[in-house]
Amino acid sequence: LAPSVPKLAQPAGTPLVHSSLPCYRKSRSCSHLASASSTAPGSTTMKPQPLLTNFIQSKEEYDALYARSIADPASFWGDVAEQFHWEKKWDPDHHSFNFDVTKGPINVEWFKGGFTNICYNALDRHVMTGHGNQHCMLFEGNEPGSDGAMTYTQVLDEVCRLANWMKAQGIGKGDCVAIYMPMVMQLPIAMLACARIGAVHSVVFGGFSADALAGRMEDCKARVLLTCNGGMRATKKIELKQIADQAIEMCASRGHTVDSVLVFANHKDGVAGAEAAGTPFTQGRDAWWQPTLAEFPALCDVAWVPAEHPLFLLYTSGSTGKPKGVLHTTGGYMVYAATTTKHAFQLQPGDVFWCTADCGWITGHSYLAYGPLLNRAVSVVFEGVPTHPTPARSWEIIDKYQVKQFYTAPTALRSLMRSGDEWLSSTSRQSLQVLGTVGEPINPEAWHWFHDLVGNGRCPVVDTWWQTETGGHMILPLPRAWPAKPGSATLPFFGVEPVILDDKGVELQGECEGLLMMRRPWPSTLRSVYGDHKRYEENYFGPYPGYYFTGDGARRDKDGYYWITGRVDDVINVSGHRIGTAEVESAIAAHHDCAEAAVAGYEHPVKGQGIYAFVVLKEGVVPNDQLKKEMWTNVRTTIGAFAAPDVIHWAPGLPKTRSGKIMRRVLRKIAGGQENELGDTSTLADPSIVRQLIETRN
Ligand code: ATP
Ligand code: MG
Repeated sequence: LAPSVPKLAQPAGTPLVHSSLPCYRKSRSCSHLASASSTAPGSTTMKPQPLLTNFIQSKEEYDALYARSIADPASFWGDVAEQFHWEKKWDPDHHSFNFDVTKGPINVEWFKGGFTNICYNALDRHVMTGHGNQHCMLFEGNEPGSDGAMTYTQVLDEVCRLANWMKAQGIGKGDCVAIYMPMVMQLPIAMLACARIGAVHSVVFGGFSADALAGRMEDCKARVLLTCNGGMRATKKIELKQIADQAIEMCASRGHTVDSVLVFANHKDGVAGAEAAGTPFTQGRDAWWQPTLAEFPALCDVAWVPAEHPLFLLYTSGSTGKPKGVLHTTGGYMVYAATTTKHAFQLQPGDVFWCTADCGWITGHSYLAYGPLLNRAVSVVFEGVPTHPTPARSWEIIDKYQVKQFYTAPTALRSLMRSGDEWLSSTSRQSLQVLGTVGEPINPEAWHWFHDLVGNGRCPVVDTWWQTETGGHMILPLPRAWPAKPGSATLPFFGVEPVILDDKGVELQGECEGLLMMRRPWPSTLRSVYGDHKRYEENYFGPYPGYYFTGDGARRDKDGYYWITGRVDDVINVSGHRIGTAEVESAIAAHHDCAEAAVAGYEHPVKGQGIYAFVVLKEGVVPNDQLKKEMWTNVRTTIGAFAAPDVIHWAPGLPKTRSGKIMRRVLRKIAGGQENELGDTSTLADPSIVRQLIETRN
């Protein structure tokens, strides 16, 4: 690589440790050495009893551990981190931070002095302890019947081959590698291969355009791109390589060169030439994944990196503005992602775990790739969509693989609910033990459908509130430890200290509602916005000095449970009443004919703001005034007359980001009649919906 390529910074003054454990095979062939404990200088031989190895059984147990996590976070997380392999152990005073912009630059450090590798912990550790033949990933293709599986050993082999190929392209510690792939097993493999050699991955969701891919590759100066010829989502063919080529050209026209492209031949037998048919291919720059990697050794040394070594960059979904390149580092992210996965889902080694998120989003990073593998689970990778070929597909996959934990988004649940309950009847879903949701507040209607019908009333529903920036779950009900309340994410995870502020920045106590902030860092706090530390400081720490600002509003009830009320920008002020969008939406969606609702505020001459509701009806329901009345009544009786919508717009659909979130700023503009000021809508899944909404406005 050209020497001018900036590497993501190592923390100043930290020496690099070179591998003292050359490769996993050395240990694999010595199975009597079936221990991951380190022999490196500086590591301890006597490990303290690790913390959080067992599931939390009760609220009392949680309370005691939570108190400890807040009283002494460094020792708490140090004890949790004992479960992982550290090539060199962290310093006794490993944790430091500044969350107050008025006191200097914002910074967060965990496990300072420690050296580890997340790929080693996710793969080698399990192979070394005799679990190499256990399944690591199960692949379900777009079409029923197209499937596959890989064991931990097979995944490790492929990770090593890919890591060696990347090294041959000059990629090393701190270099950024772009990944643009559909949901195939090679996507998590690509992430792990980067981590193995200390490279920094930047996964770009496979549904993004050439423009979005180019912008992200330029931003992180990626000279290597890992991609795929194409993929299928339902009946739609996605020509990834064509889009990737356009993106590379765009980069070139702006002075950034992508030198090497490795192309995984999806749904093909892996023979070069066969794949080439129909796929654009540039000799000298492009190589086919399967035949190329077959030439590289399945052994690759681990790069031991400092705990604060950058692990990945990932852009937020762009619901509220231009996406931010969130930077996560190695040690804290590893410990936190693994620990939340284990406790949120009561995950045991060998469990078949299905997270439906794409690896293009943080949920796919933490709860499809890293979290499950760090816990030696079997992670399901699904290339298709839940409605193809029928809305029974998810339930069929659950039965087929005997999935124990199923983690999905409220938007997916609402769309399946909309198709009708009959799609559940051909499946049993008896294997399920824990259900989870993420991405948006889950309205009680969808919560009950998930709990009562999908889970047959047997499985706790874990509503996880968190963000790209937080790396892992922040507020969630630990299953079977305390009672859930549908629509509430309930209580903070260990080490997470939420604070509710009023808009003047005063901390509110007890039952209250306001801005959701965090007083202290947790291990997987974002460390920066890539290339723009100032934006990081201004965006997250500027609004209320001394706190991390989540951008979300929340209410705390008498039991201390948190209810996310929506984005702070979306709080509507009607005649002095502050109303969270989520509450109004839940009340409307409780009507059995409503498939989905989104509300936005608009300027109102009398009330300050009025409430404008976009309502999508279930299939086959004909809109009429009686329905409007019933929905109004629902809002009046559950919240109060002041929250009743001024306008109900029968919407053909809602503008959603490619991660399935409602882009509310677009709705606000439509509600306010400012359709000429829609702003950046490049992350919308279906931009045509905007025009349809404008046309159907009353
Ligand atoms: P951007 O930051 O670019 O606007 P984004 O916030 O949509 O994009 P993500 O990090 O993917 O990007 O989403 C995090 C947000 O999703 C949270 O801040 C919150 O608003 C919402 N969210 C996630 N999980 C939940 C949940 N369980 N309940 C309520 N809201 C949730
Ligand atoms: Mg956000």
